[in-house]
Amino acid sequence: MHTLGHSGLKVSALGLGCNNFGGRLDEKGSIEVVHACLDAGVTLFDTADIYGDGQSEEILGRALGDRRDDVVVATKFSGEDGPYRGGASRKVVMAACERSLRRLGTDYIDLYYQHFPDPATPATETLAALDDLVRSGKVRYIATSNFAGWQIAVAEHVARARGGSRPVANQCEWNLLRRGVEAEVVPACAAHGIAVVPYFPLASGLLTGKYRRGEPAPKGTRLGNSALFASWATPVVFDVVDRLAAIGQQYGRSLLELAVGWLAAQPAVPSVLVGATKPEQVAANAQAVGVRLSAEEVAAVSAATVPPPPPFEPARRR
Ligand code: NAP
Repeated sequence: MHTLGHSGLKVSALGLGCNNFGGRLDEKGSIEVVHACLDAGVTLFDTADIYGDGQSEEILGRALGDRRDDVVVATKFSGEDGPYRGGASRKVVMAACERSLRRLGTDYIDLYYQHFPDPATPATETLAALDDLVRSGKVRYIATSNFAGWQIAVAEHVARARGGSRPVANQCEWNLLRRGVEAEVVPACAAHGIAVVPYFPLASGLLTGKYRRGEPAPKGTRLGNSALFASWATPVVFDVVDRLAAIGQQYGRSLLELAVGWLAAQPAVPSVLVGATKPEQVAANAQAVGVRLSAEEVAAVSAATVPPPPPFEPARRR
């Protein structure tokens, strides 16, 4: 267990991503996955109002049942379509929170994310609305998602100036195939004690080794059911996977252990969010996140993957 950013909230090293619920995964399958998580000591459950058109929240609430107080429920307001549903205005935030509470069947949300930045709403308005939700007891902690580094810094400074709740985490895409957040987002979070919560850690399964170069995607898998396979499973991706597999062979690690263990080894990361469609995947992911990669292994994995360009450094006067 680690604490989440500058808060005292404890979260498990593996978090369950619930975006399959009510979509690719029916209620029975979703409940099995949630119960496998509870058995494995996973306490962080991540959903959003738009996953499965709201069904993910409903199923998660039912699956947790009377275990609700033993876990951390994270959800997000996403700004759905429609003049009074889009964006992050006070009107939208307040209504979205009420709907999520109803669907989750709870009277509080532990961690409430702004799913996407909204350039049309001043940060002070959104943060004031979120702070009111915290003061009313409907929300415990607030967070951001998909924010750029500068947007994280703005939110932090506005929240500090208001003297209200400060975001404790930022959720962002981060995996061994997509390391762009290391340039600006991760440093911005680290500077303000904000946790980085990575999503897509397995790149939808590409980093598990189940998709192979030159072969069709296995049936029943996420990418096997998706037209995206051809555009995602490129030669560059398989080159990275091959280099990682070679490192795995050298150190006796599976691809899964390298993909999840490398993220878990990053200082700003308290918890890695992995989605799952089967209880066996939950067990494998819990084992992988528990692996402590050595500094040498972390460095080897970093060198084998694609780092972002170096951050801008102004020329110094000589
Ligand atoms: P992911 O963790 O990269 O991939 C999950 C998929 O990989 C599973 O659905 C499963 O697919 C496969 N998988 C998982 N464990 C496996 C294992 N041990 N062996 C083999 N395959 C395995 O991507 P994700 O689930 O989309 O992302 C994680 C969570 O992040 C989401 O659930 C969601 O909560 C969050 N998220 C947030 C945002 C945001 O904008 N904030 C965006 C996307 C996601 P199959 O079994 O179906 O093949």
